[in-house]
Amino acid sequence: MEDCIFCKIVKQEIPCADVYADDKILAFLDIGPIAVGHTLIIPRRHYPSLWEIPGDLAKDLLLAMQKVGRAMMEVTRATGMNVVMNNFGSAGQVVPHAHWHLIPRVEGDGLFQVAQKEYESREAMHDLARSMKQALG
Ligand code: AMP
Ligand code: ZN
Repeated sequence: MEDCIFCKIVKQEIPCADVYADDKILAFLDIGPIAVGHTLIIPRRHYPSLWEIPGDLAKDLLLAMQKVGRAMMEVTRATGMNVVMNNFGSAGQVVPHAHWHLIPRVEGDGLFQVAQKEYESREAMHDLARSMKQALG
């Protein structure tokens, strides 16, 4: 896509600190890391979100996340890793080219401290699950 920053990285029109590359996938360091070593994994082809990614590519992306994530944890001496994908603006997606964040974690680093909510009741929770099952078709 013409004005997509990640497509420009794929086409080497703008530089990146690349970590992994194959014919379908690219991984490079996030320029604004949440933690040192924060890495992005992207398909070379432009897909706007999770739902456009074909199944065989999804599998390859997951395998690349395992491979790159292992190396990232080893080098940064992380003891944990978050895999985060933001889909659409309300979820924080800024770059409209599907990508996964690999974020190295260590005990007590204080990242992602979010308060859990509660359902009104167990019944409300199961009603919601039923509605979602129905939506699966
Ligand atoms: P998201 O909010 O999920 O769309 O994440 C986009 C990510 O891309 C942000 O974490 C940015 O720091 C990162 N980013 C934007 N431009 C670049 C770039 N030129 N090189 C590396 N990372 C970038
Ligand atoms: Zn793109």
